[in-house]
Amino acid sequence: MSAAEINEAERKMQFLYALRSKGVTDQRVLSAMESVDRGPFIRGLFSERAYEDMPLPIACGQTISQPSVVGLMTQALQISPRDKVLEIGTGSGYQAAILSRLARRVYTIDRHRRLVQEARQVFDDLDLTNITAITGDGSFGLADQAPFDRIIVTAAAEDPPGPLIAQLKEGGIMVVPVGQSDAVQHLIRVRKMPGGALEYDELRAVRFVPLLEGLGKDT
Ligand code: SAH
Repeated sequence: MSAAEINEAERKMQFLYALRSKGVTDQRVLSAMESVDRGPFIRGLFSERAYEDMPLPIACGQTISQPSVVGLMTQALQISPRDKVLEIGTGSGYQAAILSRLARRVYTIDRHRRLVQEARQVFDDLDLTNITAITGDGSFGLADQAPFDRIIVTAAAEDPPGPLIAQLKEGGIMVVPVGQSDAVQHLIRVRKMPGGALEYDELRAVRFVPLLEGLGKDT
């Protein structure tokens, strides 16, 4: 092996070790995260730090989440290979790429057109063909593709948005950070039971950018 290959292998081992030590233990999630390189989702200055377990700035004043948080949220969704998944908050596209390795089909929405365009480019480059990225206000979900087996919101809402709960299948799971944008937020898992009753459990404290109304200024 060349020095560069050894470096690469060591970086990957450290990345996976960090995920495991923060509680990402589901083997399918770990394999998905091993198979998708975070580097291409981070442009410019911070790309060297892609393999650290840290959130990093991306375009439009947004952030790509910390890999261990991506792992824990993905694990909490308990995705099966036949699932249709909706993500609100495309950002860099990294989370959607991980979902795409585990699910049949992924729809992802962001209010910034530029982020959606850049993410589409990376999906194309990596040949991830089961993701559809859409510009829009994701608080309203995606009625024409509903219902979804799984929904993940990667921006903090004050309450789980009603339209998203309505678009969740019975037996479905939604994961959403809830709380004020400048305070501690809690990652909530919502299960919709057969018959439609909702069950909530609180997973952990997190910090996300806020879920905002309408489209971004660039759109
Ligand atoms: N999942 C992303 C990180 C998301 S950062 C990743 O893997 O990189 C949160 C994203 O939510 C931002 O890109 C922001 O533009 C988007 N966002 C905030 N409010 C939104 C809304 N109402 N609809 C759609 N996207 C929204």
